Amino acid sequence: MPECTKDYLVVAQNASGRNLNVPVYRFVGEKPGPKVYIQSSIHGAEVQGNVVIYHLIEALKHAELKGEIILVPNCNPVGSNIKSGEYTLGRFDPVNGQNWNRGYFFDESLIRNFAETVNIEQPLPELKKQFRQSIKDAIDNRLAEPWGIGLAQRLNLKLQRFAFDADIVLDLHNGPVSTRHIYVPEYARESAKYFNIANVILIPNLFAGALDEATFCQWWKLQEELNQIAPEKQWDFNVEAFTMEMGSQEVIDFNAGHYDAQSVLSYLNHKGCFDNASYQPDDIERVAVYLKDYKIMYSQQGGIVEYLAKPGEKVQQGQIMAKVLNIDELDNAKAVEDIKAPCDLIPILHFPSASILGGTQLYKCFTHYFEL
Ligand SMILES: [Zn+2]
Repeated sequence: MPECTKDYLVVAQNASGRNLNVPVYRFVGEKPGPKVYIQSSIHGAEVQGNVVIYHLIEALKHAELKGEIILVPNCNPVGSNIKSGEYTLGRFDPVNGQNWNRGYFFDESLIRNFAETVNIEQPLPELKKQFRQSIKDAIDNRLAEPWGIGLAQRLNLKLQRFAFDADIVLDLHNGPVSTRHIYVPEYARESAKYFNIANVILIPNLFAGALDEATFCQWWKLQEELNQIAPEKQWDFNVEAFTMEMGSQEVIDFNAGHYDAQSVLSYLNHKGCFDNASYQPDDIERVAVYLKDYKIMYSQQGGIVEYLAKPGEKVQQGQIMAKVLNIDELDNAKAVEDIKAPCDLIPILHFPSASILGGTQLYKCFTHYFEL
């Protein structure tokens, strides 16, 4: 049985001057294997990942673990406590307005400089260790910045410092009203088949600010640099990171959490994290899109809306996806506007409220999707 320890990591401070910390659960196997980092609820309203982590911990207590798994549930104690009436406003740092999932460290020039100083003959594990240290040193410098840094960035960097030690990073999120979907770097698309997630978004190997990218892009970039310096070595660091969207925000479902934990265990089993484990992916249809074909549909006019197209269900071009009621036109033919699908698509998520302003992100949809 793997050993489990629990520590606390300080990630923020409230106005009373009290430290806000998060629990860090750590399982260490007896045999060597991959290092895994899993966090949930960086967006405070996206709570289901905590249930997934609960089920993972239950399973790991009895697993023949190889390597190490670190789990940080409810990793944003600021975001999860900002309520307005019935809702959790957990998407943005309320002080500076920054998205809680955009303050991570990434600096291409640091990677380029590191690549130029690498002794290419040294063993790969040693090189990985050195690279990790250089990124963590840079993060420490950022945290010690004499001008200070914003609330979200500080919290992100504290977490990233942990996450960057890992070979596998899973960041557990939820959509507004959403079906399961996962962001997968294009180079790791084969790995998508080991999760029980029907909808896959293939993202370019480029940094756009989120934790998954702040992990895999650094290694991908280093790989690119080293492949230019010494192409004969065929560099591959085998680091993967994913953003997993486990259904809708503000919802807890223990059965769904168990299903998603099995899905994570299936992927980890494939990556060699266990001895004698039987976790396998389910035989399900998986569809994928490239990020450019994951389209946002905005509302043209404000009003009150009924969402007819359900997340995860295939929709034909021209099919009515939503009906908007216009309060100023209730007595005439313009009372109800039908919003039709511009092409064949799969709605993945929609806005959670029935009242919308013009220009609201009504739906996000897969277009030009294909079987994976
Ligand atoms: Zn999120």
